[in-house]
Amino acid sequence: MSKSALRLILGDQLSFKNPALREAQAQRDVLLFAEVAEEANHVRHNRHKIALIFSAMRHFAASCQARGQHVIYYRYEQGLGSLEEAVKRALEERETAGLPVVEVVLTKPGEYRLLEQMAAWEARLGVSVRLLEDDRFLASEEDFRDWASGRKQLRMEYFYRDMRRRYSLLVDERGGPEGGKWNYDSENRRGWRSQTAVPERLARTPDAMTREVIREVQSAFPHNPGDLSQFAFAVTAEEAQEQFQWFCENALEHFGTYQDALAEESPWLFHSLVSMYLNIGLLEPLAVCQQVEAVYRAGACSLAAAEGFIRQVLGWREYVRGVYWHAMPAYAEGNTFGAQRPLPAWFWSGDTPMRCLSQALKQTLDLGYAHHIQRLMVIGNFALLAGLQVREVCDWYLAVYVDAFEWVELPNTLGMALHGDNGLMASKPYAASGKYIQRQGNHCANCVYDPKKTTGEGACPYNSLYWRFIDRHQDYLKANARMGLIVGGWQKREAEEREAIVTWAEGVLEQL
Ligand SMILES: Cc1cc2nc3c(=O)[nH]c(=O)nc-3n(C[C@H](O)[C@H](O)[C@H](O)COP(=O)(O)OP(=O)(O)OC[C@H]3O[C@@H](n4cnc5c(N)ncnc54)[C@H](O)[C@@H]3O)c2cc1C
Ligand code: SF4
Repeated sequence: MSKSALRLILGDQLSFKNPALREAQAQRDVLLFAEVAEEANHVRHNRHKIALIFSAMRHFAASCQARGQHVIYYRYEQGLGSLEEAVKRALEERETAGLPVVEVVLTKPGEYRLLEQMAAWEARLGVSVRLLEDDRFLASEEDFRDWASGRKQLRMEYFYRDMRRRYSLLVDERGGPEGGKWNYDSENRRGWRSQTAVPERLARTPDAMTREVIREVQSAFPHNPGDLSQFAFAVTAEEAQEQFQWFCENALEHFGTYQDALAEESPWLFHSLVSMYLNIGLLEPLAVCQQVEAVYRAGACSLAAAEGFIRQVLGWREYVRGVYWHAMPAYAEGNTFGAQRPLPAWFWSGDTPMRCLSQALKQTLDLGYAHHIQRLMVIGNFALLAGLQVREVCDWYLAVYVDAFEWVELPNTLGMALHGDNGLMASKPYAASGKYIQRQGNHCANCVYDPKKTTGEGACPYNSLYWRFIDRHQDYLKANARMGLIVGGWQKREAEEREAIVTWAEGVLEQL
């Protein structure tokens, strides 16, 4: 008993493979779970996210107890301010009970802010604090550093190929890519014209524990976004696996084809809705990739669908984490285009006549979910073109999505969507006009604006803002091999035409 360790389990580390838990000894150690104000309030989190995490924590703590672990659990209503305060309280409780703790053990958090705080705990709390690497990811920070060192440019595609080989996913008997190509992205870009039925998602009725959490979150966070009457997330590993199984059987087949599509009639189309489970530990990245490969090998989905999914999880997800830890803390300060415009208030209501944007914002606020193309090419693209303040946009993304943790949110928002990292994440800014949104989906048909018009009454705001962006940043953009032609085309237009478009765009911005 004298060598007892206090093992802090964070809300995004709810897995028996969590290193801090893996080495726990039931008779000796004590696990600590804490719902604290600082983590629940440092941005205005979506209520779905708070409810998901609190409920998943309570369920996971109960299963740890069922396995014989001793658990201390502090609920939100107990009023603890921070994780440090929770650890301090637990240490005191153990001391008073005559069961002193000799060390605090935890797995590295997913956010630089917390890591910095934890680095000071040993001195502040007067107890040894041991931070363990989070080896639930498929590339360690060291792997990524080794891969990145000496490279002039980091590109996900090369990282991804190495990961495919390393984990033997969709690799043929000669070690090459299954089907002869590493990437089937070109087959995964079909626009949406309601070509096929979208399957009804698996219904889920919250259990008593989740219903209690929902009531508590509703009363403790009255001003946060999130319509909890629609709460349908899985809160245990078994339920998350059931949802993933549903995806494999009902949506994976079309996942690749409509990966980049935008649909009026569905917030999720054929997407998997598993990011939140992967990010909090209810699902494991290698297991989901292997399961998708098995579906392909059984002939139940195309290679393009399986490769498309595996690229996201084995490629993008691991890559963005590598970039985050490789480039922080300077990364968070990036703002390549000097964007300074305040975030419009309607980002918190979705009240804008731009149909595509309004729909993406409203479902984000209500459900805590939007798929990748909505996040990147509708909301992020608008923020990029309008020059919205990078920090404010990143804080918004961190707040509104159920799957948002800084290691994954920041590189995607600051890097991929806003190009604030000067191209570390993506080879070119993801800037697009209304034409792209029209091609990818069916929002424009229901919009007050016309995607074919750039100026004048009813012109789609994305169009003039796009050309204003090209105009303002032409010196930067023309140096980019993939943007140079567009800049050249813009410069060849008549000066009067360019001026009219930019002036129109300024008017659009004034009305924001
Ligand atoms: C501006 C912006 C912000 C984003 N913020 C987050 C975030 O906070 N948390 C988050 O998990 N994802 C984020 N993403 C990535 C991606 O949009 C979501 O992972 C995805 O939409 C989640 O829905 P899904 O599970 O249905 O994904 P699917 O489309 O079904 O994809 C399968 C899985 O691939 C992984 N994945 C796909 N793309 C990415 C990516 N670019 N980076 C990391 N993982 C990826 C996810 O784990 C996802 O569950 C962001 C993307 C953008 C452009
Ligand atoms: S017309 Fe423009 S604003 Fe309207 S839905 Fe299409 S792209 Fe969006």
